[in-house]
Amino acid sequence: MTKPPPESLPFPDSLCHRCAAPPRYVQSRTSTFIMCPLLPQKYPPQPVRVCSLFRPAPPEDPKAPR
Ligand code: SF4
Repeated sequence: MTKPPPESLPFPDSLCHRCAAPPRYVQSRTSTFIMCPLLPQKYPPQPVRVCSLFRPAPPEDPKAPR
């Protein structure tokens, strides 16, 4: 799945959006939830500002299909 544009994501300042984990965006009819594949509780309280498992995501490849 292609990552949605950042401005449409909840908590745009959350560390998760820049994480290599990578987070998954789970959409309900009215909301988008950020699901972490690494944390046991899956849905950390947002916005995440500090996370011991955070690793910066590699820069996006402009040639990659969107
Ligand atoms: S590892 Fe931390 S920063 Fe990365 S997606 Fe999970 S909760 Fe967010």
